[in-house]
Amino acid sequence: MTPSVGILAIQGDVAAHARALAKAGARAVPVLREKDLDGLAALILPGGESTTISKGMDRLALWEPLREFAASGRPVLGTCAGAILLARAVEHHPVPTLGLLDALAVRNAYGTQVDSFSAPVDKGAKKGLEGLRCVFIRAPQLEELGLEVETLARVEGRPVLIRQANLWAATFHPELTPDTRLHELLLS
Ligand code: GLN
Repeated sequence: MTPSVGILAIQGDVAAHARALAKAGARAVPVLREKDLDGLAALILPGGESTTISKGMDRLALWEPLREFAASGRPVLGTCAGAILLARAVEHHPVPTLGLLDALAVRNAYGTQVDSFSAPVDKGAKKGLEGLRCVFIRAPQLEELGLEVETLARVEGRPVLIRQANLWAATFHPELTPDTRLHELLLS
């Protein structure tokens, strides 16, 4: 059976994640209300603008439903702004977050939009993700990682993909390259 994967659809890179999921063999479901979470195998919080997405979560009363989804143990992947929304704390224009992932997210830590770049993961990335090319767009950096947090990939020595139990956070945009290995990993 084709798994259904939700994408929080308030703002951001929803369409590109949906294409990546289709390529990885899943059905993408836009999430805008609690009911949309029913029956999902996993959930993606996309990149975009974390302040805007956070305000949308207020408006749509999605904070508790999203926390409950994460507590159910199903995989949740936050990418870029989505990673910020998972973090325990945020530095540099703080924004309300779900506070589930034991990490500090430093917003726009590489500079402004013009400082966007792409780079391959360093040697030593998790098996199956070797050579993964990462696109960074006004990306955050993840610091002060808790003891339960595992670093799965680094770029230039900094963690860019981390995992704490069922929670995954990428500071880059895995949906913007043809390489769907991270989406496949989330589904496995
Ligand atoms: N700079 C954005 C923020 O802080 C994140 C950028 C992105 O998701 N590409 O919310």
